[in-house]
Amino acid sequence: MTELTVRFEDAFGAAPDGVWQAPGRVNLIGEHTDYNEGFVLPFAIDKTAKVALRIRHDSKVRLLSTFGDQGIVEAELSGLSPEAVADGSIKGWSKYPLGVVWALRQRGVEVPGFDLLLDSDVPLGAGLSSSHAIECAVISALNDITGAGLAAEDMVLATQQAENNFVGAPTGIMDQSASLRGSKGKAVFLDCRDQSVKLVPFDAESAGLVLLVIDTKVSHSHADGGYASRRASCELGARLMGVPALRDLAVEQLDDARTVLDDITFRRVRHVVTENARVLETVKQLAAGGAGSIGRLLDASHTSMRDDFEISCPELDLAVDTARSHGAIGARMTGGGFGGSAIALTPVGLEQQVRDAVARSFLDAGFTAPDIFTVTPAAGATRLS
Ligand code: ADP
Ligand code: MG
Repeated sequence: MTELTVRFEDAFGAAPDGVWQAPGRVNLIGEHTDYNEGFVLPFAIDKTAKVALRIRHDSKVRLLSTFGDQGIVEAELSGLSPEAVADGSIKGWSKYPLGVVWALRQRGVEVPGFDLLLDSDVPLGAGLSSSHAIECAVISALNDITGAGLAAEDMVLATQQAENNFVGAPTGIMDQSASLRGSKGKAVFLDCRDQSVKLVPFDAESAGLVLLVIDTKVSHSHADGGYASRRASCELGARLMGVPALRDLAVEQLDDARTVLDDITFRRVRHVVTENARVLETVKQLAAGGAGSIGRLLDASHTSMRDDFEISCPELDLAVDTARSHGAIGARMTGGGFGGSAIALTPVGLEQQVRDAVARSFLDAGFTAPDIFTVTPAAGATRLS
């Protein structure tokens, strides 16, 4: 018996029916391109949410996390609705697993009551998608245990529906696609228009590199207006340019766009259009020259997010600039922006130097000490027992 199953039994009085896990993700490149029907290149990381679950013979759901001190949260299947979230009767982290149950029931899947214990080592609010790690672990468990037989693409859409319409976070399909469809040693090259996926080898180690994550501890939030206003600018840009989505604009059309769009909308559009091109180029470069050949693309992505999309923040800029000036071959903020984490592709021999320099620069600037750790591309969601 694992520690998790022992804890489950202590909390709920019987052994779980099984244990499932799903990873967080880091996005190598392709930011704010997902909802523009473009390309992204995330990978599943070696940090996961694990859930132990046991079916009940009534309509009750009981949820417990090893994190925090909320204790056991109870809910009734019949009481799951976006309205219950809006009026505050469903709150806290239970929104994520209950949102998945709700989305499955919307699809006609008969979900029974269950007890669930969550144990996750994906850092919260760091831009590594701890929320999707939970949702993907839960949907994998419920898909197995109900025999619903949903394909990965359906589970991606169900978790998106849970985040968008139940939790109330207007996120795309990138995070859950990486978590559900990721594979060890591979990045997930995802076309967000048709959900097609190509697994692309990403092997930093053989290029003598590590991918450092620098969690700035500035907590991002989709709830404030930044994310929504960027989405609105992108929709406006596409409409004014007469295309279904910004994915349909080529870099060569940016000169035209400059004459049609106001300055802010133009710069938002330029970020998305050039970022899509950078994702495609990164995939090409990884195949041709390996991880050592994508540094300048990461750098260009950061500059575009900082200057054109304006979603960086002083902590992210400092992390990126310091990592680069102390030996990283490329660095960028990752995730939705306004906080969260940066990534820095760093030669193994310079890892400590970069870590020390970033930590020192944060101290000097009076910022909260960052968390710095390495990640490698790991397997997607799976059943453990
Ligand atoms: P991100 O997904 O980028 O980490 P979000 O704000 O989308 O940030 O999700 C963070 C939320 O997920 C937390 O506020 C919390 O409700 C929930 N969460 C994540 N990990 C855990 C955990 N181990 N236990 C309980 N809740 C968690
Ligand atoms: Mg999230």
